[in-house]
Amino acid sequence: MNKAESEKLASQLVHLGYQQTEKIEQADLILVNSCVVRQSAENKVLNKLHSLKILKKSRPDITIALTGCIVGLDTSQLKKKFPFVDYLFPAGEFPEWLGEYDLEYLLPGSPQVAAFVPIIQGCNNFCSYCIVPYRRGRERSRPIAEVVAEVTGLVKRGVKEVTLLGQNVDSYGNDLPEKNDLADLLYQLNSLDGLLRIRFLTNHPKDMKSRLIQATADLEKVCEQINLPVQAGDNEILKAMRRGYTVEDYKSLVAEIRARIPGIALSSDIIVGFPGETDQQFENTYQLLSEIRFDKVHVAAYSPRAGTQAARELDDKVGAEVKKLRLKRIEELQAKIAGEINAKMKGKTVDVLVEGCEKGKWTGRTRGDKIVFFSDAGNYEYKLVNIKITHTSPWSLTGSLDQDNPFP
Ligand code: SAH
Ligand code: SF4
Repeated sequence: MNKAESEKLASQLVHLGYQQTEKIEQADLILVNSCVVRQSAENKVLNKLHSLKILKKSRPDITIALTGCIVGLDTSQLKKKFPFVDYLFPAGEFPEWLGEYDLEYLLPGSPQVAAFVPIIQGCNNFCSYCIVPYRRGRERSRPIAEVVAEVTGLVKRGVKEVTLLGQNVDSYGNDLPEKNDLADLLYQLNSLDGLLRIRFLTNHPKDMKSRLIQATADLEKVCEQINLPVQAGDNEILKAMRRGYTVEDYKSLVAEIRARIPGIALSSDIIVGFPGETDQQFENTYQLLSEIRFDKVHVAAYSPRAGTQAARELDDKVGAEVKKLRLKRIEELQAKIAGEINAKMKGKTVDVLVEGCEKGKWTGRTRGDKIVFFSDAGNYEYKLVNIKITHTSPWSLTGSLDQDNPFP
């Protein structure tokens, strides 16, 4: 979401006549987009602000603006703490001083093939550990026509793949008068000429509907990829996290998805070391991951966030060392599982949308969101190609262009 918002802000700055500088010291305007989902992310922002304070002393003429989730509804404390910051505005907003935002100005002069499109802002869930609802407010969906117009504009500029974004895309449309949902949006976007792939994230296990699963199965442009964060594999922890589902609910949802969408790639998020998490409760999470065998897992150690229910009410802290060990065990298990899943792709031919060139190798992603590298002297930038996989690892696939049939 931050990446999508940064892209939008950057494109508006270009529209206003700004150019990107090579070094931060050369800039007239510095716009910092922050994440505070965990303390480590917040520390990065604080360090950045510290170095900007020093820079502003030597160059008082520069303008510094700060946005993202460090900015809450009440900015008075932040203003006191960082008086050298000229402008503060909340995540996802478009401040007046940046002028009128116009979809036409999206990504000027920076063609790319895959773009993020936020469809719903905010979150109504208040999981006990999470700061997002406090910083991004309640759910607000963008009208379907506005999203379709934006994607149409992107496609005109060469975009072939869009990822629809929301903290909970399953809530999309609940607040709209027409009550359209994500499935309705997918049906509309699927008919756009020139658009090749559609993805969406993040789904919430308590809200994902059969209708969306069916749309994903039916629509040829919607990729076989679902991000469905489970967070924990123990019912007591899930309850304390206020996730609104049980391990059994989650497993039956996964079974339904797998039955209806052949070849689906599933990814998930896990938090280890939630307050009070016992060894046995952690083992239950480990067990669930071994059973489900996700394609990808993002694992994080629990980080207390000021103002959240978990930080206010639950003190039974898990020690830093234990958290680290649990994190490592999940990472090792997942590397093994992803390695085995990816190894099965050896010898197969997959379609890859080429996003760029890295260290002399073309790189892109499969429909299942796996990163693929291949070497070839031709120019394949932003093209959809058939790649025969020759090597695999837990993190990526390597192959070569299918000479008999290079384009799908
Ligand atoms: N809306 C999504 C995720 C939003 S936050 C969902 O419901 O899952 C992205 C990820 O950050 C979460 O999935 C969670 O794993 C992690 N996260 C959020 N708050 C955290 C915290 N306090 N400590 C550690 N990880 C956290
Ligand atoms: Fe945070 Fe839960 Fe909302 Fe996801 S669903 S953003 S974890 S409160």
